[in-house]
Amino acid sequence: PRILEDEDGGVVFVSAALSSAPTSGFGYANIDKQRQRLPIYKYRNAILYLVETHATTIIVGETGSGKTTQIPQFLKEAGWAEGGRVIACTQPRRLAVQAVASRVAEELGVRLGEDVGYTIRFEDLTTSDVTKIKFLTDGVLIREMMEDPLLTKYSVIMVDEAHERSISTDVVLGLLKKIQRRRPELRLIISSATIEAKSMAAFFLDRKGRQRVETHESGPSKEPAILSVEGRGFNVRIHYVVEAVADYVQAAVSTVLAINDQEPAGDILVFLTGEDDIGVAVSLLTEEAQANGNKSSGLIVFPLYSGLPRAEQDLVFSPTPRGKRKVIISTNIAETSLTLEGIVYVVDSGFSKQRFYNPISDIENLVVAPISKASARQRAGRAGRVRPGKCYRLYTEEHFINEMSAEGIPEIQRSNLVSCVIQIKALGIDNILGFGWLASPAPETMIRALEVLYSLGVLDDDAKLTSPVGFQVAEIPLEPMISKMILSSNQLGCSEEIITIAAILSLQSIWVSSRGAYKELDEAKMRFAAAEGDHVTFLNVYQGFLESGKSSQWCHKNFVNYHAMKKAVEIREQLRRIALRLGITLKSCERDTEVVRKAVTAGFFANACRLDVYSHNGMYKTIRGSQEVHIHPSSVLFRVNPKWVIYHSIVLTDRQYMRNVMTIDPSWLTDVAPHFYQHQ
Ligand code: ADP
Ligand code: MG
Repeated sequence: PRILEDEDGGVVFVSAALSSAPTSGFGYANIDKQRQRLPIYKYRNAILYLVETHATTIIVGETGSGKTTQIPQFLKEAGWAEGGRVIACTQPRRLAVQAVASRVAEELGVRLGEDVGYTIRFEDLTTSDVTKIKFLTDGVLIREMMEDPLLTKYSVIMVDEAHERSISTDVVLGLLKKIQRRRPELRLIISSATIEAKSMAAFFLDRKGRQRVETHESGPSKEPAILSVEGRGFNVRIHYVVEAVADYVQAAVSTVLAINDQEPAGDILVFLTGEDDIGVAVSLLTEEAQANGNKSSGLIVFPLYSGLPRAEQDLVFSPTPRGKRKVIISTNIAETSLTLEGIVYVVDSGFSKQRFYNPISDIENLVVAPISKASARQRAGRAGRVRPGKCYRLYTEEHFINEMSAEGIPEIQRSNLVSCVIQIKALGIDNILGFGWLASPAPETMIRALEVLYSLGVLDDDAKLTSPVGFQVAEIPLEPMISKMILSSNQLGCSEEIITIAAILSLQSIWVSSRGAYKELDEAKMRFAAAEGDHVTFLNVYQGFLESGKSSQWCHKNFVNYHAMKKAVEIREQLRRIALRLGITLKSCERDTEVVRKAVTAGFFANACRLDVYSHNGMYKTIRGSQEVHIHPSSVLFRVNPKWVIYHSIVLTDRQYMRNVMTIDPSWLTDVAPHFYQHQ
């Protein structure tokens, strides 16, 4: 097939990944042997020595070398979890937290949630006084600082996947550096697949630190140690397409089929961008495998993305049955966060979903955008673990060389900082600009965030958290706009409804991705659709789900995602408890949708838009920034185009689309946010 041009003399990428021996005969019995074969094993004593003698140790090693699963175990063996102390290991992604925690529990032969546990937002699988190794997202670690500012229960905190440079990772590193000054006995490990180790070390060694080294004779060195874990690598041959592909999902599917036809055994890992395009590729391949009889029947296809239910995650890691070929279609979560065994072929779309925030327009988009060269190399490296592999890039070599940036931009420099600022404020750090940033966010972005928080009533004239609203908003583990909406529902008497909406808004989507059945999905949606928009529609769906007795058949019939709804019920229960703790009275407004919409407006007034009367294609303008936006086709208000709306988020494809849209009365805006709208 055309896209499999093998350019002679094409780039041969030498993967620095090492490989443990192939995992034939994979089983519990030889888990110790497997551990000993990992490259990190040879560094065990060196790591323990460095951690003992240095406040901060930076460890760089290729994906699969054993950093995440082994280092916490080494620390435990060396006694760092004795005396009631806990070893923490953070990850940027929830799914990675769950996956590595269950792997480590398995290696240690313990039940997950006891000696080895994990905590992610809305899910705590740890036992106090029992859990010794705890995996958690860096976001959860920040939340824990609100309760325990010096994180006293941890002896060692390993900040993993630091190269990802997620917002929370950057914030955590800044905060830990401060904690370290007050807790010299705390040890930090910063680990990553690729990292500017020197600049990270420089970050942890400021002048103050240096003076301390001179004055304190005892105690660990303040100078960070750097350790690089070397591993044996297999070559990965890179193939480029000759001409740019029009549809990378289709191209990925044809490439998988071609590999299956022409290449020897070995599993395939495909990088796409999100649940939607992954869903499409999975169905296309599954159909193909069924239609094609013997030819593609050896393929077993699995999706892998962050919202995936636990049971399906486990399937991804299960060994490939003899005579079969596993195809895993993943977001960039498989780039470095998770190790998948047996991958020999990688298909790289060259894209991922990324956040981009523009402080001028005050819009944060989720965009499918080209990845960096560094990411492309990481992706290719996933093919070289078991034996020499191949990576099929669905873009041209020219594109790789000339169009792709060398490194990604840290998330903190391309995101809305409203959530980040309130967290830092809640930790009592007032000088946000002077916070020791690993990479400084744009001042305009900071100012925007402060302005929104002020309008939400969260910050006062001195940019301090207000009491009680500011502290309450900070305490709820949701975006500040959602938290504010919950607080407002108390006065408006609709907290039951708003908590349901908040739970559903924190999920990706409650609808099943429609693959082919657009008409049926639309019809199903219409059964629940409310003229007031998506938020009220969610209440109808939730109601229906409860009345069905939380039935999966009911969900199937109505194109509703059963797992998402079960998750919504769980999250809602947690939010109820938080609301009660904050003194909110749980009350239903009994279908008075106006108060519900007012409460939503009290949180999301900044996202108000007006239909452009001169446009005939449903174009809206944001009130504050005059940005052109449209209602997303997935909204029940698509094509209805009411005059005034509020949206929850924006995705950019061919246009800027508003997701989760609700009608409002414009007079509410000046009621709830007079400061924000005073000049309109
Ligand atoms: P790193 O953090 O350096 O990328 P990990 O500690 O995640 O490496 O993985 C080390 C090794 O552990 C992998 O090479 C793989 O052999 C094994 N491993 C990790 N997670 C799993 C899992 N869920 N199932 C089976 N093996 C795993
Ligand atoms: Mg890892």
